[in-house]
Amino acid sequence: MYVPLFTSTYDDAYAMIGLVDANNFYVSCERIFQPHLESKAVGVMSNNDGCVIARSAEMKALDIPMGTPAFKLETLRQRGEIHLLSSNYELYGDMSGRLAQLLRDACPDIAPYSIDEMFIYLDGLSDRQCQTLGESLRRRIHRGLGLPVCIGLATTHTLAKLANHAAKKQPQYQGVCLLNGQDALTASLLAQTPVSEVWGVGKRLAERLAIGGIHTAWDLHESDIKQLRKRFSVVLARTALELRGTPCLHMNALDQPRQRIMTSRSFGQSTGVKAEVHDALRRHAQRSAEKLRQQHSLTRAVMLFLNTNRHRRDQPQYFPQALIPLPSPSDDTRVILDAVRQGLEQIYRPRYRFMKAGVMLLDLVDAEQHQLSLLNAPAHHHPLLMATVDDINQRMGQGTIRFGMTDNDAPWQLRCAHRSNRYTTRWDELMKAGTHPGAIAACTSRT
Ligand SMILES: [Mg+2]
Repeated sequence: MYVPLFTSTYDDAYAMIGLVDANNFYVSCERIFQPHLESKAVGVMSNNDGCVIARSAEMKALDIPMGTPAFKLETLRQRGEIHLLSSNYELYGDMSGRLAQLLRDACPDIAPYSIDEMFIYLDGLSDRQCQTLGESLRRRIHRGLGLPVCIGLATTHTLAKLANHAAKKQPQYQGVCLLNGQDALTASLLAQTPVSEVWGVGKRLAERLAIGGIHTAWDLHESDIKQLRKRFSVVLARTALELRGTPCLHMNALDQPRQRIMTSRSFGQSTGVKAEVHDALRRHAQRSAEKLRQQHSLTRAVMLFLNTNRHRRDQPQYFPQALIPLPSPSDDTRVILDAVRQGLEQIYRPRYRFMKAGVMLLDLVDAEQHQLSLLNAPAHHHPLLMATVDDINQRMGQGTIRFGMTDNDAPWQLRCAHRSNRYTTRWDELMKAGTHPGAIAACTSRT
């Protein structure tokens, strides 16, 4: 059964789908330029150095949970047992763009799924060739960008995600795992995987499935599709088909709430007009903000991207992205729109015709938890206004109330006492050779 949910520029016609996922992305970006942080416990803090939002494996091993307030870690930091860095979104955004570009150069098609996860689409290759390509991509990414990644390859998005998980957790795969959906490897991996770890199966759904005797991904794989559709949902039935290797879910349908939110779409017709591009981005931003409020989250950073049409080789190509950190976590459409406007100013170039635009909200945080602290209350927070807008749009139709341009040019002053240099995007913050002999030695030994 093949049920297309969306039409897109990269549809499900590709024979093999890969998920490339950078390991501990923020920390890995920092380590590229500060190799002395390698194998140390490193944490990256939220804006204003509030709490931990990314951890190295060593930091995880110390049982320091995500979201730990930075002040609680001050003693450990002073004793040199851990390293805490301010978030450097400009660096992370740029490294993410470089990763996307490297993949775009090597694969027929790619689609970003989050700042450090990208789908690649391959065609016309045997399983063995895909495996070899995966291994060589992994080496190239490490050599060219200094980023450690894991790659999962499979015939569907759902299996690719599981393959990626295996590549990351099980050392025997050496970072690249291919599941063809039919072989013994797929069967044994599915049998080991709790159904709650399958994409789109949340905790609550897993509990309901357990009552019906479905505990592992393999149990779901073996379930009767019609029954699943009747007793649960069409989406779950499709997920089961995906586990069998039949592609029927587009990646947009695989949205996991509470991690990141993306809204993107191809234009009906390519355009180079800034106002039109901005309008598309504004719509995506408003839709993303609505989704954000629906799941009671706040976002810490807004990423936007533009794509030209890569199938038009006669036209100049440009795939920029921008990442704008917010001064404090927010679910206010106006704040997100303002970030989008700033991002567009950074990346828009008049000579290109764009085919696709998208807005991604990153590093989400639970709104209720966050607002428990009075200190965290955002300066211009109007939850009632946003609730009213959502309510009207729900009753009267999407986009009944829309936001025009916001008029807030005040530079955002972030506290970022421990931010590393923005090595890849600022001339005056380039890495200096000779200042840190250890760093240079470590850099050369990497290659
Ligand atoms: Mg990752």
